[in-house]
Amino acid sequence: MLTKAPRGTYDILPGDSSKWHYIESIMKETAEVYGYREIRVPIFEHTELFQRGVGETTDIVSKEMYTFNDKSGRSLTLRPEGTASCARALIEHSSYAGLLPVKWYYIGPMFRYDRPQTGRYRQFHQFGAEAFGSNNPYLDGEVIMLLLEVLARLGLEEYELHLNSVGCPQCRGQYRQRLIDFIRPYQDNLCPDCQARYINNPLRVLDCKNETCHQAIEGYPTLAANLCENCLNHYDQVKGALAQQGITFIHDDKLVRGLDYYTNTAFEIHIPGIGAQSAVGGGGRYNGLVEQCGGPDLPGIGFALGIERLLLAVEQRGEKLPSPPEMDVFIAVMDSAYEAQGMKILQMLRGAGIKAEKDYNNRKARAQMKFADKIGARLVILLGEEEVEKGFITLRNMRTKEQFQVAESDMLRAVSRTLLID
Ligand code: AMP
Repeated sequence: MLTKAPRGTYDILPGDSSKWHYIESIMKETAEVYGYREIRVPIFEHTELFQRGVGETTDIVSKEMYTFNDKSGRSLTLRPEGTASCARALIEHSSYAGLLPVKWYYIGPMFRYDRPQTGRYRQFHQFGAEAFGSNNPYLDGEVIMLLLEVLARLGLEEYELHLNSVGCPQCRGQYRQRLIDFIRPYQDNLCPDCQARYINNPLRVLDCKNETCHQAIEGYPTLAANLCENCLNHYDQVKGALAQQGITFIHDDKLVRGLDYYTNTAFEIHIPGIGAQSAVGGGGRYNGLVEQCGGPDLPGIGFALGIERLLLAVEQRGEKLPSPPEMDVFIAVMDSAYEAQGMKILQMLRGAGIKAEKDYNNRKARAQMKFADKIGARLVILLGEEEVEKGFITLRNMRTKEQFQVAESDMLRAVSRTLLID
């Protein structure tokens, strides 16, 4: 029986959707204040885009993609992240030919086949921002500030910002070789994954989740000590931009993105106390990505925040999130003969922007009042024989229990006034 959603997916029921609206509105407002505009890209793309734009050697591409052939045999993939699609859209629409930098944000579902656990799903949601067309270190600073401002507006002041620089293809190329040479004598002590990848992708050994790999390479040459002068300057300026705003960070030499088109700044945000999956977001500079996806040589930087983990963090802090909006008015029709009249009033109220509801299940008068109470109606309009005959309505304030009568022609004004005062 198909009674459950697929593993790793879940429903956002109406009782929770107001929390999502709230979080998303904060993200949108903050991004707009920072000059980022919304882009909406497809949920699926050609598989090749992610192979090129995320990288064949990443866990995402090698293990976690939802890939399928469509009816014409094209290989398509449900997007596992947003950056590659943004780079593709930038190239496809030649958006780089206009004003630079191009600053975009997105919000939406992403898909990764991973083992579900708290804070980890197969369909999850990200808010992300990307800025293309400038290598200015202050832009790196801005992107991080945007991310932190979203956290601050959500009341999340306790976080750890991990920061590193992965250099440029030149200095990283030399560094890679140094790291391979260092690791080689200890290769037997690495986990099977790292044994297989340390030659092709030695930087991935640094961020391996396996503690034994960290022990095996103790005393390894650090990235920071091997940056070229340009990259060192860039990193210093990013740190300076953050320090100037009073933003504290932890230099984390093991924070790497082991792909050639990632350059310079890499960062990750952790919120302690939300479980094993404490990373709520991460990002960095990717000066080689646009070219890698078939576009011009254009620098870029961005981040993605996981919305589920943010919600978890906000709720764990005991922060009160908005609950579903209550109802303004309920129309209680005392007899089905007055239903048409009830509907007319209902639509008049709604037309004036007042949230209004009526009974559709033939409830008795008392049951309708109970229903009105349960849905949180602030006012009830009673419509009985006398009311319909004489052309007035009875208005009941559900909080004070006061009841009064007004002419039907005065109904809108009376309802609006009572809602405002109460
Ligand atoms: P990444 O694109 O891997 O850098 O992830 C950025 C952020 O997205 C992470 O810090 C998480 O908050 C969130 N995220 C990534 N994968 C998942 C997942 N499977 N389930 C829920 N959130 C995720």
